[in-house]
Amino acid sequence: MKLEQIPVRQTKGVSAQKEQELHAFGIHTVADLLDYFPFRYEDYRIRGLSETKDGEKATVEGKIMGNPSLQRYGRAKTRLTCKVAIDGVLVTAVWFNRHFLQDQLIPGREIVLTGKWEQRRLQLTVSESEFPDKGTARSGTLQPVYSVGGSITQPWMRKTIKQALLQYGAMIEEALPSELVDKHRLMPRREAVVRIHQPDDTAEGQEARRRLVFEELFLFQLKLQAYRSLNRKRMDGVAHVVDADSIRTFAHTLPFELTDSQKKVVNEILTDMRQPSCMNRLLQGDVGSGKTVVAAIALYAAVKAGHQGALMVPTEILAEQHIRSLQKLFDGTGIEVGLLTGSMTERKKRDAVAGLQMGLTDIVVGTHAIIQEGVNFRSLGLVVTDEQHRFGVNQRSVLRRKGLNPDVLTMTATPIPRTLAITAFGDMDVSTLRERPQGRKPIQTYWVKHGMMERVLGFISREVDAGRQSYFICPLIEESDKLDVQNAIDMHVQLQQAFPGLRVGLLHGRLSASEKDEVMRAFSENEVHVLVATTVVEVGVDVPNATLMIVMDAERFGLSQLHQLRGRVGRGGHQSYCVLIADPKSEAGRERMKVMTETDDGFEVARRDLDLRGPGDFFGTKQSGVPDFKLADMAADFAILEEARDDAAELTGRADFWTAAAYARLRELLKKEQLFQGDLLD
Ligand code: ADP
Ligand code: MG
Repeated sequence: MKLEQIPVRQTKGVSAQKEQELHAFGIHTVADLLDYFPFRYEDYRIRGLSETKDGEKATVEGKIMGNPSLQRYGRAKTRLTCKVAIDGVLVTAVWFNRHFLQDQLIPGREIVLTGKWEQRRLQLTVSESEFPDKGTARSGTLQPVYSVGGSITQPWMRKTIKQALLQYGAMIEEALPSELVDKHRLMPRREAVVRIHQPDDTAEGQEARRRLVFEELFLFQLKLQAYRSLNRKRMDGVAHVVDADSIRTFAHTLPFELTDSQKKVVNEILTDMRQPSCMNRLLQGDVGSGKTVVAAIALYAAVKAGHQGALMVPTEILAEQHIRSLQKLFDGTGIEVGLLTGSMTERKKRDAVAGLQMGLTDIVVGTHAIIQEGVNFRSLGLVVTDEQHRFGVNQRSVLRRKGLNPDVLTMTATPIPRTLAITAFGDMDVSTLRERPQGRKPIQTYWVKHGMMERVLGFISREVDAGRQSYFICPLIEESDKLDVQNAIDMHVQLQQAFPGLRVGLLHGRLSASEKDEVMRAFSENEVHVLVATTVVEVGVDVPNATLMIVMDAERFGLSQLHQLRGRVGRGGHQSYCVLIADPKSEAGRERMKVMTETDDGFEVARRDLDLRGPGDFFGTKQSGVPDFKLADMAADFAILEEARDDAAELTGRADFWTAAAYARLRELLKKEQLFQGDLLD
């Protein structure tokens, strides 16, 4: 019997009702209970009064020196006081609502008190007390503090876990290979689990934690690396037959020379695509670094190799934009590009789907609709996803169920700080576009107060007079009294009045797809000079003639969002500007504005963002692929994470790892995890 198979009910003291309540905490088995770790300790170690500061909580020993006195007040409220000699000082001990203790406070009796010390009044407000003649369970120890709630109280949880350790502690198995336990001088698992619940001192608790954090991070890394190495070994992907000459010829038809960075990245991608295994590659590059053309070359290669490609984007505006730019790039190559989005008419959708199935369409651009049920390809070779959403394991399984196993290229403009990359993207290969195309001037960024609107309007005139265009971003599309934000619709009216001679466009999420499309077309053809928009333009929109990005109420946006917005300008050869209009009330808000004015390097912005917010917030959680760790803290435990990653890579790289008996337990642990939905090891 393994602890993972024993219902928690088997622990003495766990009733059927308590068992139900434990389920809410994710505790089903004895193993879950033992792995329910405390998040801190309460210190009941006995101290001298002289080392206790005024207002501090402490546990002290003393002797009762007089008879207690009880006062009643209010409804059923009591105050019990008694003189106690502690370290030669006569102290008044005070208990609230503990009248039942009165009889036990006998002069001459030893007592241990935990409470808040008030030096001036020589008074201790007692929260807990024990009598040594009846045994002191708590005193002198560090007591674990668990996350509890409902009828599961702190004392009950302590008692129950203690009981489980007594009953089952001996059955705790080692999860790590002994070579790693030795190498990192880790506590054996059994000892670590006992010690993390019941440490003798702080150092011991920390050692136990270190061991368990290592295990957690190592198993996580092992999963990622195992997945990655299996994926590499698996030969059921599409081996694209890529003709280097035809790629070179195509590259020469582009209106510009590829940057060295782009060439390097294209080579990495094509190398992967040639392999019979599945590519799972992340392309990260700052906004404006030219990811789209890299994707286009990869798609071109897939088609030339006799397969189909898909480009998946988060919004319909982006889909429209990408299909236009791909059609331009593929003009004269005979490659058929089609669109598939949720808002297309049923008839158009049906036609698009048929085109893919019969292989009339070579490349489909669209939203999530692309990989939905009912959409089948003649031969899907490559899926590229642009911006924001990772192509998760789930989506891969959807394709796999359709019998498809395409190469996947995921593009992101939110550079991942190194610290997070190895956690979040441990299962992917990463290509990075380090440079932006030549001739790009850094975007000049200014932070102004709302009072400076006149000058901002003057700025717009100046740019438009020079033949350029502007974005004007507002955070909300409708007035909200609560938020008191200038809304896009109002701003549109205001700007139309301010600039009677100019065309001011309006773009927001409530417009229909065709309305949005028309506005974007007009803007990209310079028929609209100023585009008032909500954040629908945040990702991907590419109008190189736009040189001025104005963000209203900029303090409402996060750093990566601001950087994305700023990335809509500076995409051509002209000097571009970003103006942030903000009166931030918080220090964090001011800090964000400062970061924006200090750097326009996305990697630096991401790093500062991580500093400001911490890793949890940085990524949101679920979809980022960063799991909720039980113990590990990605920032604080980064050194351990790196060790764990290296060890995992070393182990999965060994020729005999999958067969060696020594690693049977590890494989079992990997298999148990549902993370890869049966993909792993089957
Ligand atoms: P992003 O990485 O933000 O998606 P895009 O792919 O949209 O960037 O490219 C930004 C702009 O730079 C586009 O107008 C694109 O045509 C242009 N571009 C891409 N590569 C180059 C290059 N090597 N030289 C000059 N311009 C380029
Ligand atoms: Mg892009």
